Amino acid sequence: MTKPYILSVDDEPQVLNAVVRDLRRQYQRDYRILKAGSGQEALDSLQQLRERNEAVALLLADHRMPVMTGTEFLAKAIKLFPEARRVLLTAYADTEAAITSINEIGLDYYLMKPWDPPEQNLYPILDDLLLEWSSTVTMPYQGIRVAGTLWSPHSHDVKDFLSRNRVPYRWLDIEVNAEAKELVESVIQGGRDLPVVFLPDGGRLIGPSIAELAHSLGMQTEASAPYYDLIIIGGGPAGLGAAVYGGSEGLKTLLIDKSATGGQAGTSSRIENYLGFPKGLSGAELARRATAQAERFGVEILIPQEVVAVRVEEPYKFVTLSDGKEINCKALVIATGVDVRRLHVPGAETVEGAGVYYGAAMTEAANYAGQHVYIVGGANSAGQGAMFFSRYASQVTMLVRGPSLSLSMSQYLIDQIEGTENIEVRTNTQVIEVKGDGRLESVVLEHGDSGDVSEEPAAAMFVFIGATAYTDMLEGIVERTERGFILTGQDLLNDKETAKHWTLKRQPFMHETSIPGIFAVGDVREGSVKRVASAVGEGAIAVSMVHQYLKTV
Ligand SMILES: Cc1cc2nc3c(=O)[nH]c(=O)nc-3n(C[C@H](O)[C@H](O)[C@H](O)COP(=O)(O)OP(=O)(O)OC[C@H]3O[C@@H](n4cnc5c(N)ncnc54)[C@H](O)[C@@H]3O)c2cc1C
Repeated sequence: MTKPYILSVDDEPQVLNAVVRDLRRQYQRDYRILKAGSGQEALDSLQQLRERNEAVALLLADHRMPVMTGTEFLAKAIKLFPEARRVLLTAYADTEAAITSINEIGLDYYLMKPWDPPEQNLYPILDDLLLEWSSTVTMPYQGIRVAGTLWSPHSHDVKDFLSRNRVPYRWLDIEVNAEAKELVESVIQGGRDLPVVFLPDGGRLIGPSIAELAHSLGMQTEASAPYYDLIIIGGGPAGLGAAVYGGSEGLKTLLIDKSATGGQAGTSSRIENYLGFPKGLSGAELARRATAQAERFGVEILIPQEVVAVRVEEPYKFVTLSDGKEINCKALVIATGVDVRRLHVPGAETVEGAGVYYGAAMTEAANYAGQHVYIVGGANSAGQGAMFFSRYASQVTMLVRGPSLSLSMSQYLIDQIEGTENIEVRTNTQVIEVKGDGRLESVVLEHGDSGDVSEEPAAAMFVFIGATAYTDMLEGIVERTERGFILTGQDLLNDKETAKHWTLKRQPFMHETSIPGIFAVGDVREGSVKRVASAVGEGAIAVSMVHQYLKTV
């Protein structure tokens, strides 16, 4: 495969040569570095690259060019290479223009001239952007292919697992792709075990379980040791926060997740309020970065592995995995978050994964391009989902039980929804039945104002009706609320009943549960604020408490 391109454009030869020299020094091995002395010359080169079906990873343009400014060039260039990352080279006085470009052309970064030393001011930024580009771009296809039908729930599970774990794949719908149908039939000969997964090495899996799939992808599903200083259950933002700090502070750390790192945040199409990302970032991207960071610090990550039980033999804590194996540690962090609540109406269960999906199910969005989809829920996650699906579907209808979105959704999202033509919000409306034979066909709605009931055809329904803590594996171990949330720190002592279970003379550490050395962080902790930043912060704090705890045993 040919190397992708990085194109730098500047009308000042000295600056251009300096940029190109620095780019070559760092990126020559993996990229081809191209230069142009004006916006027009650069556009001509891009046009040629496009005709040759080449890939362009990064465009780096000086803002101050007399005929065509860097911003004007980038605005035209992204029509030819929409995936390419965009960086503007600016002088101090151009900051305002650069900030405007963030909104207008989706500028990824603006660099100040001069950028010396490049190791500090240039390469870390471009490294990030190139990594991001390479993880999202579609190169000539040589990867995994998943063949099935849109109405086979197991095909959905497989796609969901791959995309949540950021494993690129190509979806082949055998109902619309005759070639794929033939291919599948030659493999399963009339069988109904969908999907069939075709691996790049020529291997294939027929209706594989998620564990089999993970195994053949080379994911780590077994711990390499029987004992760790710190085990973290759950790889959402809280678990990843704890993993990065645990690993970086020298603790032998193991993180276990039953499906993918990123947790709920990993399913968010755009997180706009996480510190340091003015343009927002997708949950998948945040998860990818944090996972790489944890692994860099030597954290072992087991996926997919579910912890089904925990037992304590002071000072050791043992976690039992769903395959029956046990691993032990001295300090345990529970970061199992919350999981989506199911819609309990007649018919919903029978078409789950075949038109009815829980959460953002981003992997399905393209399949409903040009169709009418429904979103159930009125909180932020539903709002983000509606914004995301509005890019694909012809019409998005939000079904909101309450009288207004403002009771449950952030204003910035309400504004975005109001400004999006193909989103319709129906308040005081709830789903009372779902109909379909093997796939969703229609939804039955009750309108609270009038009590009227109507049935409407629906291509897909994405449900965002909140989440709940599933912590049964901790029953009889740590103190929990009736709703399953885990009590920690001072909250344990505030309640007379739960206070009885704290047996030590010292007070519990922050985020410590009723069992010394077991901590709970993020959404699963009673009283947590259910945000990405706070979950990450709690994970980091817990590690500091783990150190204090380890000094006591
Ligand atoms: C669609 C959506 C959009 C959101 N957008 C934003 C936003 O823009 N900004 C913001 O601040 N917040 C947002 N949130 C909220 C935010 O994502 C959560 O507060 C955050 O993810 C909580 O992190 P956590 O690590 O505590 O739990 P989770 O993210 O819930 O992660 C828990 C992890 O534990 C794993 N797990 C559970 N049980 C087990 C077990 N027994 N064994 C092994 N693994 C287990 C799960 O697989 C999961 O990966 C959003 C949430 C959703 C659903």
